[in-house]
Amino acid sequence: MSVATPDIQQVQQIVREVLRRHLQPGSQKPAAGGIPVIRTAASAPAPAAAPAPASVSSDRNPLVVNISARHVHLTQEHVEILFGPGAQLTPEKDLYQDGYFAAKETVAVVGPRRRMLPNVRVLGPCRSDSQVELAFTDGISLGIDLPVRISGDVAGTPGCLLMGSHGIVELKQGVIRAMRHVHMGPDDLRHYGVQDGDMINLRVESPFCTTVLEDLAVRAGKDIKLEVHLDTDEGNAVNLEKASRVELVRAEPCKCRH
Ligand SMILES: [Zn+2]
Repeated sequence: MSVATPDIQQVQQIVREVLRRHLQPGSQKPAAGGIPVIRTAASAPAPAAAPAPASVSSDRNPLVVNISARHVHLTQEHVEILFGPGAQLTPEKDLYQDGYFAAKETVAVVGPRRRMLPNVRVLGPCRSDSQVELAFTDGISLGIDLPVRISGDVAGTPGCLLMGSHGIVELKQGVIRAMRHVHMGPDDLRHYGVQDGDMINLRVESPFCTTVLEDLAVRAGKDIKLEVHLDTDEGNAVNLEKASRVELVRAEPCKCRH
């Protein structure tokens, strides 16, 4: 990583230099395990993002389906490089899961060939690794071929440059398209008969867009509210904003056992 003053010409020069040096995606296999952290909600100013409706599936924990617009997770070290020595993330809006928030701070995400996404929201609290979560459409805009990963599983993923109001961070890796997933607490796991890491299906009823999204990864955690996270591409594709019903459906094992 490198640090710079906000002088625009210096910034541009640094960006050019760093981009020239690397930004080639690695080819390692993903490491096991992830960071059990929650992010959520259409809190960032993502164009074409549907808002986040909440729908009820039963008399149990309400099934909430939220769109997770493009966002960034940062280490405290990176917060201080991007926003100044001693800087802390400023909570602006609480997310659905307790303790998590959309920060006031945003960064620009710069990809290869100097393509850039401005004003990408930072979500807090800080993590042990910085990570950028984008939709495929964002990846196309940036010129990055996004791997689909469970959050926290970033080994061998592409990098990018983050530009804050004070400085620049070069991420060697950590740019992903987050795998669609559902957060569940212990009661939810029991109710649906699934475990952490299982796959489940999400059925969305919406006008002329009724869809079953398969391969929704179950992410278990204590003190976690039942919540599905889709990205903006998925939310728009199923017209989530107009959805009249959402439900989680157990994935049927293939009868031919393949
Ligand atoms: Zn999530």
